[in-house]
Amino acid sequence: MKIADLSFLVAEDSEFERERLVGMLKAAGATTVWWASDGQNALAVLLNAKTSVDVIITDLAMPVMDGLEFMRKAGHSGYRGSVVIASALDSSLLASAEAMAKAYGINLLGAINKPITAQLLEAALIRHAAPEPRLHAQSVAGRSFTPDEIVHGLEQDEFEPFFQPKVELASRQVVGAEALARWRHPKQGIILPAAFVKVLEDAGKIDELMWVMLRKAIIFCGTLNSTGIESTVAVNLSPKSLNNVELAGRLAAIVQRHNLDPSTVCLEITESAATTDLGAALENLTRLRMTGFGLSIDDFGTGYSSMEQLTRIPFTELKIDRAFVANAVTHEAARAMLTSSLQIARQLKIKAVAEGVETQQEWDLLQELGCDLAQGYFIARPMEASVYVSWLQELATTSTSMFTSSIMSAKKR
Ligand code: C2E
Ligand code: MG
Ligand code: MG
Repeated sequence: MKIADLSFLVAEDSEFERERLVGMLKAAGATTVWWASDGQNALAVLLNAKTSVDVIITDLAMPVMDGLEFMRKAGHSGYRGSVVIASALDSSLLASAEAMAKAYGINLLGAINKPITAQLLEAALIRHAAPEPRLHAQSVAGRSFTPDEIVHGLEQDEFEPFFQPKVELASRQVVGAEALARWRHPKQGIILPAAFVKVLEDAGKIDELMWVMLRKAIIFCGTLNSTGIESTVAVNLSPKSLNNVELAGRLAAIVQRHNLDPSTVCLEITESAATTDLGAALENLTRLRMTGFGLSIDDFGTGYSSMEQLTRIPFTELKIDRAFVANAVTHEAARAMLTSSLQIARQLKIKAVAEGVETQQEWDLLQELGCDLAQGYFIARPMEASVYVSWLQELATTSTSMFTSSIMSAKKR
């Protein structure tokens, strides 16, 4: 992303702040900068701008139309660019404005406490990225798939894992990868899990995806190991799949068939609203752990992935939700959540993984706070298997110029 290629809209009632902000953007290389002195004018600019606005920087407290209403109306008008909130309000208010913006579908890059500095602004702008090419979450785009369409895709072998590396913060070594489901749709390209996981769960068909993902991820992990790259693999399990008490035994058999140690496979579980058969879930999880599989509590800190789960399930890893990682740099409350999640992991003697690390600042903060592992776009996006292998090979053999990867290394046996 080059700042010169983006167009900006600054909504700020204080003339002094507005001029400072516009000046800062221009100094950073911006060539197209619109401005408005309140939300209403900003909305008019947004709706009438000849070229589309890529990034809005908005104050919250403004006369006529405040920043909250402006963001709601921008969201409802179908605005697809990004927003940075810049405000002098205290950080808990900023955090709630931020949550509101996201709920209205705004792609929020961050909320900055005034006075804005060039460094803070740049840190937020770095998050502005074009959407991943060819990746669709169809349910978000309007049309969703029916269970039959998805099951047909599964039968046609159109589903596969993409792999995203997990890196040790202290050593910068890649220790494993998370397998994320992708549907290679014959007509619509690559489809993301948001378009099919819930549909399958609701239709009682999620196990079909699970077995495809487990088999493919385990085979891939075996192949990596046989080429001398020591790696773990993590697969996401729906809590609904824990209802069948035979899961643990079947999974152990697959791993054995591929000559892998169960400890190289980690199962990531997010508790969902629909409570499952608790007895069966606990039997499966206990047996999986007894067999040596890793167990990860995914999205820790959000709705249902809670402390209560930690007390009854023998997890080996705690994955801190992206929301706390992303906001920890700027928000006290998120940083407190992050710090205490790390403390809990340390006390339970389990690994802490930070999800969704997108910037150098987040990486530095996590390192400073003593987090064990990191995963996120800052390191690499999820990649199809062959691309992931090339990525690992490149790390191992050359010092590449790929973003941060020159500082990472693949773990070799
Ligand atoms: P998750 O397990 O928490 O996976 C992390 C999600 O965050 C992935 O989205 C990943 O692509 C995305 N991500 C990773 N790094 C970053 C980053 O730096 N920034 C941002 N903005 N996002 C990042 P994805 O692949 O769309 O998957 C979404 C969710 O779908 C997963 O969340 C998981 O709960 C579920 N899922 C994925 N594959 C499977 C599967 O095979 N089975 C089941 N049951 N659920 C799956
Ligand atoms: Mg996961
Ligand atoms: Mg997660």
